[in-house]
Amino acid sequence: MSAETFMGVPREKIDWSPRIDYSKCNDCMECVKFCPHNVYEVKEEGEQRLVVKNPSNCVVFCRACGKACGVDAISFPDKSGTTANIKKIRKGMEANE
Ligand code: SF4
Ligand code: SF4
Repeated sequence: MSAETFMGVPREKIDWSPRIDYSKCNDCMECVKFCPHNVYEVKEEGEQRLVVKNPSNCVVFCRACGKACGVDAISFPDKSGTTANIKKIRKGMEANE
């Protein structure tokens, strides 16, 4: 497990990453060019060329690439719901200590 944590919780346990609406995505790859964190991968061929390969590399609560997408094909989980989940996970971790 990576040592990286966010709000005291291992990053891998936090469900925050871009969701791609493939019915809107036009493969422009602006999101890939925009993000410096190696979250996305571009496949050479196939219907879904854009892949969220490393979701745990995404910076929790960042939504920047969503703004770079000209067709609004990128969405993110609900922020307050994610915060609540993080707190819940942390509570569970504390209970197990
Ligand atoms: S910026 Fe939007 S349209 Fe372009 S590849 Fe990314 S998700 Fe698809
Ligand atoms: S939200 Fe931020 S960190 Fe996550 S993939 Fe987009 S630009 Fe990268």
